Amino acid sequence: MIHFVGAGPGAPDLITLRGAELLKTADVVIYTGSLVNRALLALCSKTCRIYNSATMTLEEILTVMEAAEKAGQITVRLHTGDVSLYSAMQEQLAALQKLRLPYDITPGVSSFSAAAAALQTEYTLPGVSQSLIISRAEGRTDVPKTENLPSLAAHGTSLVLFLSAGQLPEVQAALLQGRYQKDTPAALVYKASWPEEKVLRCTVGTLAETGKAYGIHQTALVLAGDFLSAPVTRSRLYDPSFSTAFRPGSSVKTN
Ligand code: SAH
Repeated sequence: MIHFVGAGPGAPDLITLRGAELLKTADVVIYTGSLVNRALLALCSKTCRIYNSATMTLEEILTVMEAAEKAGQITVRLHTGDVSLYSAMQEQLAALQKLRLPYDITPGVSSFSAAAAALQTEYTLPGVSQSLIISRAEGRTDVPKTENLPSLAAHGTSLVLFLSAGQLPEVQAALLQGRYQKDTPAALVYKASWPEEKVLRCTVGTLAETGKAYGIHQTALVLAGDFLSAPVTRSRLYDPSFSTAFRPGSSVKTN
């Protein structure tokens, strides 16, 4: 069996219990060398064969998987964060389907969750934003025209951009074409949950200069939106006068 596993954002104790267990039992591990914390590989057995996919093509990855499967071995394909975002997992799944090789998927903690934790904030706040847009600036990978940054920015929601820290001047200009203002709160989170994590709070108007000043151009997320500095209002979920399926409402007044 080939197990696709989300490694989490970096800190080795942010992998799931299931993911850790799979790493312990694996005969073969293929990890995304550019971003997965190598400390996780300490979980692997002494006999486990470990491959860094950063230097491999899709064909080479599939060859390793196929050989292990033929030998009745367990393979873990370890991707950074969660496998559902920018992991290039789907092309591997499609190829494995063609080869009729069995696989399953274990999710992980994405870096966007680790970034919110580092900022001690919540993307969805009552009266501020109830939506989070996850996207990226266009780079060597095309972004569909209907999803270009100015059009996404038109919503003024909470926003997280992956793979975009190398294009901060363009990102800043695109966000300002939308609903974000120069003084809208923004942040750059570099290597969330790693020992070298950096959390830089700024504004949309100072994203580019902040990135330049701190030398941030990769392994970082760009965040923007009023959630980063909004005054906290009470949610209805824990409001005594609000009924939920688990708790009847009372007439107690709250402030
Ligand atoms: N599947 C991953 C994303 C892979 S794409 C996830 O769920 O997090 C790689 C991009 O993710 C990087 O360019 C960077 O923008 C972001 N990234 C990954 N790990 C990160 C971390 N620990 N801190 C900040 N950004 C990170």
